[in-house]
Amino acid sequence: MADLATLVTDIADRLMTRAERGRVADYIPELAKVSPGHFGMAVVTADGREFAAGDADTGFSIQSISKVFALVEASCRHGDAVWSMVGREPSGSAFNSIIQLELEAGRPRNPFINAGAIAVCDLIAQGQDSADAIAAILARVRALADDDSIDIDTSVAWSEAVTGFRNAALANYMRSFGVIAGPVDATLSVYFQQCAIAMSCRQLARAGRFLSLGGVDPGTGLPIISAERTRRINALMLTCGHYDASGDFAFRVGLPAKSGVGGGILAIAPGRASIAVWSPGLSAQGNSLLGTLALEELSQGMGWSVFNPDVD
Ligand code: GLU
Repeated sequence: MADLATLVTDIADRLMTRAERGRVADYIPELAKVSPGHFGMAVVTADGREFAAGDADTGFSIQSISKVFALVEASCRHGDAVWSMVGREPSGSAFNSIIQLELEAGRPRNPFINAGAIAVCDLIAQGQDSADAIAAILARVRALADDDSIDIDTSVAWSEAVTGFRNAALANYMRSFGVIAGPVDATLSVYFQQCAIAMSCRQLARAGRFLSLGGVDPGTGLPIISAERTRRINALMLTCGHYDASGDFAFRVGLPAKSGVGGGILAIAPGRASIAVWSPGLSAQGNSLLGTLALEELSQGMGWSVFNPDVD
């Protein structure tokens, strides 16, 4: 097995200068302004050691990675009631697909496609207004990362809101089936703002550490969510975390992980580490091209795939 510090530095050194970097998302105008030249990586081990390289401390738009934290928030508030609104199957369709919703009576396949995440936001907003709902999600992220400086990038949130016609269509469609209950505009405002949370790789890896520890808060030793719910979230990340390339990611990397169109990926090696990578250039399916490569190399080098026999 490779030495973790050396491996992280080696991967970053090679990928930072790589010519082929994928295409930066441009359907949200504010995201198109980010340079494709970035590469950052941070690993926080289950026992709290940190390894970082490249642009590990530069903030970026976490986009769909926020869907993991929103699911944690919704699970804490509503428990298994989440699963009466949202399914647990990979979609095999694009993250913003609408066709599946019509075929399946407005019930989103999983909480990590846009429709599912919008339904999760609606659930969090039940019984409170949208400002309190987004405040709760942000507070959750800050607490998990132990970092109150984490915030919403308001220009990204605005950019999403003024161009989010497809998400508005998904939300209205679900509202017509009663899958979401609240006012569509308020629910969408929570969704757009949660996607616009900005974090660095280091902050993100710290925030994900409890998922490598069976749901236990490394600071207090107390559960944030139960071990069973943590296993389920990790299972969903593995099966649904990379849009319609989730199978390919499991094949190549073998770790629960969630990507976002900002070019970030949060990956969990249960019992071992929380890993965040960021490179804004995306593959055709919307996943960070170099981020995926970095995780493939890290998982292979450390023997961390969940499908490996235990090597310790
Ligand atoms: N805010 C983005 C959207 O809804 C999230 C996309 C993503 O990262 O998958 O279009």
